[in-house]
Amino acid sequence: MSTATAVGLRCRECGTEYADNPINVCEHDFAPLEVVYDYAGAKKLLTREQISKRAFNMWRYRELLPEQEPVSGFNTGGTPLYHAKHLGERIGGFKKLYVKFDGVCVPTLSFKDRVVAVSVARAKRFGFDTVGCASTGNLANSVAAQAAQAGLKSVILIPKSLERAKVVNTQVYGAKLIKVDGHYDDVNRLCAEIANDAKIGIVNVNLRAYYAEGSKTMGFEVAEQLGWKAPDNVVVCMAGGSLINKLNKAFKEFAQLELLEAEPHCRFWGAQATGCNPITDAIKRKSDLIKPVKEPNTIARSIAIGNPADGYFAARLCLDSGGGGDDVSDAEIVQGMRLLAETEGLFTETAGGVTVATFKKLAEAGRINPDETTVLCITGQGLKTMDALMEPGVLPEAPVIKPSLSAFKDLKIA
Ligand SMILES: *Cc1c(COP(=O)(O)O)cnc(C)c1O
Ligand SMILES: [Zn+2]
Repeated sequence: MSTATAVGLRCRECGTEYADNPINVCEHDFAPLEVVYDYAGAKKLLTREQISKRAFNMWRYRELLPEQEPVSGFNTGGTPLYHAKHLGERIGGFKKLYVKFDGVCVPTLSFKDRVVAVSVARAKRFGFDTVGCASTGNLANSVAAQAAQAGLKSVILIPKSLERAKVVNTQVYGAKLIKVDGHYDDVNRLCAEIANDAKIGIVNVNLRAYYAEGSKTMGFEVAEQLGWKAPDNVVVCMAGGSLINKLNKAFKEFAQLELLEAEPHCRFWGAQATGCNPITDAIKRKSDLIKPVKEPNTIARSIAIGNPADGYFAARLCLDSGGGGDDVSDAEIVQGMRLLAETEGLFTETAGGVTVATFKKLAEAGRINPDETTVLCITGQGLKTMDALMEPGVLPEAPVIKPSLSAFKDLKIA
């Protein structure tokens, strides 16, 4: 028993219980393991009054996390929920549209800081001196930064074709960065072998059960920011499909602790890029059978996972909650990034463009009721994927003029 309220691990399929350990699958059926909590104990400790006394960051919900004492990510979470009035008007009639903006999550400007804060604390508790990850970019940035904060070494494996900003934002923290000649799924397979062989706490492999719990804090914050209510609809982009499931778990746990005004009835809408859409492809077939995408090809590299670990659960959640999903082209992704920037003044990376563009598509098809509350989960920062907007012809060429008023007037702007 490691903390007051997190009491071990349990298999999501057969229910076999395990003590806290750096393991992520059940030895009987290889199904994923999940952290188990003492909810009765948590309910006594985690009241609205108690929460409101704490700083506005992810640790204010610590009784529902596997770690209660951060060793990194001290101010992670606590990101703004914006009422997206202009975007709602532009799409047409959405008066209760919100954007949860993790593009300003610290320290590395994506929601991955939430999962890493939990898993680095756990790695330290297990006695690892090195942490690592298989990453499409944002996780790399966050593990590198938070290892530095916690005084641990880090080893980061990425597919060799990642955005320059994601590479720089990993190496600057002193991480050992390794580029693998392959797609994310090759990197992930290699990391599974490394986790079996070396004494490295790989946050999304042998520490995955703990890691994934950090995502719940995005859902806790949304519910609190909406006045202790779950939204009617959530739109979220999916990579491995973990975040979307943990948002659902967050609303359920808040209901279990009687922190919500009403039972949650949230519809989950999953978003992917058409160039890597294993989960939305299944959802559109009304199936939970994931057909892996062998050659992902999209500018949304941070969510380009061809064989998603939690794809089955994500597809089931979207279908069973009365939501659904769709995917969008690279051109639509760029339009989505620009639409959010032009209407709300928020710059998101390609993955956020996927979320906005998919929302637009679902809304225009009449699939999301504009009278309901809808939250778009914007998971990353636009400054990291500027490559997508720097292609010729995407943004206008800025005119260069002589420093004279007449030259300015010649432009006939105002
Ligand atoms: C990792 C990531 C996601 C989604 O991750 P899941 O694997 O589905 O939990 C979404 N957006 C961004 C920017 C990411 O880096
Ligand atoms: Zn099992």
